[in-house]
Amino acid sequence: MAPPDILISEVGPRDGLQSVKATMPTAHKLRWIDALVAAGLREIEVGSFVPARLLPQMADVAEVVRHALTHPGITVMALVPNLRGAESALASGVHKITLPVSASAAHSQANVRKTPDEMVQELRAITRLRAETGPRVLVEVGISTAFGCTLQGEVPEDDVIRLAAACVAAGVDEVGLSDTTGMANPAQVRRLFTRLRSEIGPHAGAAHMHNTRGLGLANCLAAYDVGVRTFDASLGGLGGCPYAPGASGNVVTEDLVFMFEAMGVTTGVDLARLFAARIPLQAGLPGEPVYGMTPEAGLPKGWTQETTHA
Ligand code: ZN
Repeated sequence: MAPPDILISEVGPRDGLQSVKATMPTAHKLRWIDALVAAGLREIEVGSFVPARLLPQMADVAEVVRHALTHPGITVMALVPNLRGAESALASGVHKITLPVSASAAHSQANVRKTPDEMVQELRAITRLRAETGPRVLVEVGISTAFGCTLQGEVPEDDVIRLAAACVAAGVDEVGLSDTTGMANPAQVRRLFTRLRSEIGPHAGAAHMHNTRGLGLANCLAAYDVGVRTFDASLGGLGGCPYAPGASGNVVTEDLVFMFEAMGVTTGVDLARLFAARIPLQAGLPGEPVYGMTPEAGLPKGWTQETTHA
């Protein structure tokens, strides 16, 4: 069977968990990841390498990585904020590391106490380390606040594109764009991804869209229309947006898979099994709200999917 048309990169175990208060016990994380793999997800961001005292939720990341690596054929990814995190991530055996680099100076300062240029210097050190200790490990950057910033307001598109090019020059393999604050609209998404692809070509990476204002799916479709083929999403939209009560933060994986599959764009993900992956998620985070219109509505009568299950 042909490979799926698009790649859905599941970020729930990192992006989702990082924004909830409760800590999910390790055993539940492992069961949840197993269920995601069983549903057909091929790339999973399983955690972040940050000091446990800052983020107790991620204290078990090395163990979670070790478990995820037992699944053949999936890309195990972890977030790192800096060189020290990259050292630990490379030692853990992950296939891919991802770093957030903010296009907004104000957000960058608030988040990592560095300017965007200082982050690019950090990237240079990280890709040097990668060359020495893990030449097969991919390094990805997600440009956060690429579509607007709650602190700075408008983020000039030129700043985003210049930063993306600087990341590639620093040795990064893929640069995606993140709507961290849920401010993007489809026209802007089309424009910025088109510019990104013409500037950095094959290094252009994922669309990381948020559903804060209800435009997550529309923005993903806009990105697809201009050639984007990798989409970040979170099961159950885990990590509800703190700025918009009742609204999910990350795009809901279930809804994203439904949209694409219904259009005939294959994802490799089986929706019924994806719904089942909500069970270990909810068991590990009792009381935490999960989102998604498709799981609530159920599969349409006669729904069939051509999915590949190796
Ligand atoms: Zn996110």
